[in-house]
Amino acid sequence: MPNAKAYAAPSATAPLAATTITRRDPTPNDVQIEILYCGICHSDLHQVRDEWNEMMPTVYPCVPGHEIVGRVTKVGSAVTKFKVGDLAGVGCLVDSDRTCPECKQGFEQFCNNMILTYNFPDKHSGGVTYGGYSDSIVVDQHFVLRIPANLSPAGAAPLLCAGITTYSPLHHWGVGKGKKVGIVGLGGLGHMGVKFAHALGAHTVLFTTSAKKKEDALRLGADEVVLSTDANDMAKHAGSFDFILDAVAAEHDLNAYINLLARDGNITLVGAPPKPFQIAAFPLIFRRRSFSGSLIGGIAETQKMLDFCGQHNITADVEVIPIQKVNEAYERLVKSDVKYRFSIDMASLKG
Ligand code: NAP
Ligand code: ZN
Repeated sequence: MPNAKAYAAPSATAPLAATTITRRDPTPNDVQIEILYCGICHSDLHQVRDEWNEMMPTVYPCVPGHEIVGRVTKVGSAVTKFKVGDLAGVGCLVDSDRTCPECKQGFEQFCNNMILTYNFPDKHSGGVTYGGYSDSIVVDQHFVLRIPANLSPAGAAPLLCAGITTYSPLHHWGVGKGKKVGIVGLGGLGHMGVKFAHALGAHTVLFTTSAKKKEDALRLGADEVVLSTDANDMAKHAGSFDFILDAVAAEHDLNAYINLLARDGNITLVGAPPKPFQIAAFPLIFRRRSFSGSLIGGIAETQKMLDFCGQHNITADVEVIPIQKVNEAYERLVKSDVKYRFSIDMASLKG
């Protein structure tokens, strides 16, 4: 029997609309959560519009949402991590095999059998997983995160994807004091990247296509802001970066950024536009520069990131919206018109 309210996309072209879905009763290891806030990630939009058709075709109806913060309402008999009333978070992962070498090393996101929070096969229901644009969710305790009490739940929700997706590569590539670091794109991911790079003590440079975001970027922690459409401005930084994190959701020229890396510098892509990139050979080989990707982060690392945010009082800058405005929010997201993450207030789903 359907027992949860949700918003779902019925097809790639129809607007999201109210619906009801079924959530399982908690099994012994499950945590049932009443969702308070869910962030809107650009991945939700890519998936809803079936823009990733070649890699991950969308199954409709699709209930997106993987930046979830809520209150625990019920726990299974074997749950030790949470009790009723706790604040809890769920990100992009809800399951993995937990036996493979990746899982054993805390890299659940690279497990061949990982299950994403939406649009992935759900062994419990036999259908696909449904995400956080809903009033509740049931998740195995291993994939549920503790949210530091000092963080606002609305601003903490985006940490579950935008937070960990930027925190993880910054750590992997040794960003810290004495490093010059670039963040490309001041969106949901990018603004978290700026906050983390700044908190880690790096000299942080924000690249943007939007001149009007300059003041915000400086306030968020950037030491410098470069308008990426200005070739002269870009040329001033040639060969100078230790690391660049690219968090752009659309097609753009990566070679322009590779040229800005120092010897042995790395550019890591977290943005996932659907079309392949063209990378020139010479800028990479001449200075032993490297180009890589990164996918969210494992569960232990996500908890570490949340605890770091608790200590440093870091949350996303959010515009809180009722779920009835989700389609309008998607249109604005495409135009980079959000400062800097939409967070859906799920109380709006109750009415
Ligand atoms: P977002 O909030 O829409 O931000 C993307 C930013 O990219 C915009 O704010 C804009 O920044 C810049 N941009 C947009 N169009 C551009 C264009 N045509 N040329 C150059 N820059 C452009 O998106 P998001 O939620 O941060 O997600 C960013 C990407 O990361 C998406 O593709 C998403 O699917 C992906 N993602 C990946 C992972 C992962 O694990 N790897 C996790 C989450 C999301 P400016 O206005 O400052 O230029
Ligand atoms: Zn996301």
